[in-house]
Amino acid sequence: MKGRLGWMIGSMVLLSVGGVACDGRRETAMTGDKIVKTNEEWCGILTPEQYRILREKGTETAFTGKYYNHHEEGAYVCAACGEPLFSSLHKFDSGTGWPSYWQPAQKGAVKEAADDSHGMRRVEVLCASCGSHLGHVFTDGPEPTGLRYCINSVALDFKPAHPKKK
Ligand SMILES: [Zn+2]
Repeated sequence: MKGRLGWMIGSMVLLSVGGVACDGRRETAMTGDKIVKTNEEWCGILTPEQYRILREKGTETAFTGKYYNHHEEGAYVCAACGEPLFSSLHKFDSGTGWPSYWQPAQKGAVKEAADDSHGMRRVEVLCASCGSHLGHVFTDGPEPTGLRYCINSVALDFKPAHPKKK
């Protein structure tokens, strides 16, 4: 009995340390999303890192993502559902270590929500189609909008405008 209890506690510790919460504890789907999946379904689609950021509102470490220093022409789509979210036309070098855009690809591609976590007042940016967490928007961006959409590379996939011919 004692051995079994120890094993149970051990696996609970492992789960919380591992941070991969594919156990359906939390329902992150929001009303109004066009694409609604359970945590279990997202878990099967996304990598653990994508799941942590897109569905659990995590943040990738600055200067580690694949798109912060990426300058090809094309579209940045949602890594979870494939909807076009941002364009290389609106991308700029913010120096923050995260891909930054001064506006979404189209009005309505993303939605915003107040985020008071970590003792800060920030505005969270979410995919309007599937509700996945993308990053935050700040008001210290360049003209013409003055906005800086600070997005996790992990939340994005890139579709080049001029695919390289084989
Ligand atoms: Zn999406």
